[in-house]
Amino acid sequence: MDNTYWTERFGGSAARIQASTIRELLKLTQRPGVLSFAGGLPAPELFPKEEAAQKAAQILRERGERALQYGPTEGYAPLREWVAQRFGVEVEEVLITTGSQQGLDLLGKVFLDEGSPVLLEAPSYLGAIQAFRAYGPRFVTVAMDAEGMDLEALEEALRRERPRFIYAIPTFQNPSSALMPLSRRERLVEIAHAHGVPLVEDDAYAELYFDGKKLPTLFELDRAQGYGNVVYLGSFSKVLAPGLRVAYAVGPKPVIAKLVQAKQGADLHTPVLNQMLVHALVQEGFEARVARIREVYRAKAEAMVRALEAHMPPGVRFSRPRGGMFVWMELPGVNAQALLEEALKEDVAFVPGAPFFAGGGGENTLRLSYATMTEGEIQEGMRRLSQALGRLLAL
Ligand code: PMP
Repeated sequence: MDNTYWTERFGGSAARIQASTIRELLKLTQRPGVLSFAGGLPAPELFPKEEAAQKAAQILRERGERALQYGPTEGYAPLREWVAQRFGVEVEEVLITTGSQQGLDLLGKVFLDEGSPVLLEAPSYLGAIQAFRAYGPRFVTVAMDAEGMDLEALEEALRRERPRFIYAIPTFQNPSSALMPLSRRERLVEIAHAHGVPLVEDDAYAELYFDGKKLPTLFELDRAQGYGNVVYLGSFSKVLAPGLRVAYAVGPKPVIAKLVQAKQGADLHTPVLNQMLVHALVQEGFEARVARIREVYRAKAEAMVRALEAHMPPGVRFSRPRGGMFVWMELPGVNAQALLEEALKEDVAFVPGAPFFAGGGGENTLRLSYATMTEGEIQEGMRRLSQALGRLLAL
């Protein structure tokens, strides 16, 4: 049967599900010899391989019946309790998800209808745009700067629209690396509450700060006011290993209960062995592990900024990350897709920024990920990128 046989038989929502631009692009950049700053993968040398091997063997040997049996949809109880304790909430306010990507999908399933507005930053996380898009909402986007969502623009949008929720990544945003300062966080929480619009806080990069200071989350600020208007998504992907697919949602009980029902239909539960393994891994040396990850990424980010300062022509603007895995770049009147074509000739790759803008725009922006690169590769990669850019600017 050919392709049309099947496409004519898919449901209406299948047309809205599209291949992720980045995943398609990554195939191109995986050619041998290409220095790829395109992917968003954590550094594999930081994965807890030995500890995981030991603990997984022990779990299977000693508690194999539990690890290999079906488990509760809500999650493995000790891991749920660990999260609940860390957040100072009740266990019923925590759901373990199969990656926070699943949390995003479940939120879409529970909150969005076809045509309903949902508010996002421009740019925003592509995986969230993709997850929400499957439910056919109308994207309302709000501009941002190096300090996160522009709250004037948000208030302006909320005078016109009543979104089902506001999706924000206030800490080391993917893709822009923006960090929202405390005062703006406080105001965002107030605005959302005043308008009766729930806030979804995606905090995948929460722990990856470089300067020793962790800002209060929107979730904490909201709870301190007694509102209960924030659903928080956290993940073990960037602090342990993304392949385990273990993450969590923390939020008001009615929301968590509904997400549990939605999750039942999706996968019954997150793999029990993975949850038990994550729980075992956070019991021992977890803080030291995370501190080391911060150090490694900080050194890479610094190398990146040094290389960009050395090589980039004037007019190019780039972020100076204070945490996370990305540098965001704005080109002076150059299309980033055109630059990518030129860059691939030099065997260097990145992700053009336009797909991160749910409402269009951003053609002159791009994202560079330094997490998997060595300092030498970063130097060489930025040298090659500046050569490609120099050729375009000379045209
Ligand atoms: N949110 C953001 C902002 C991300 O960057 C990512 C991963 N790149 C995710 C969520 C998904 O993470 P997980 O591995 O927990 O599904």
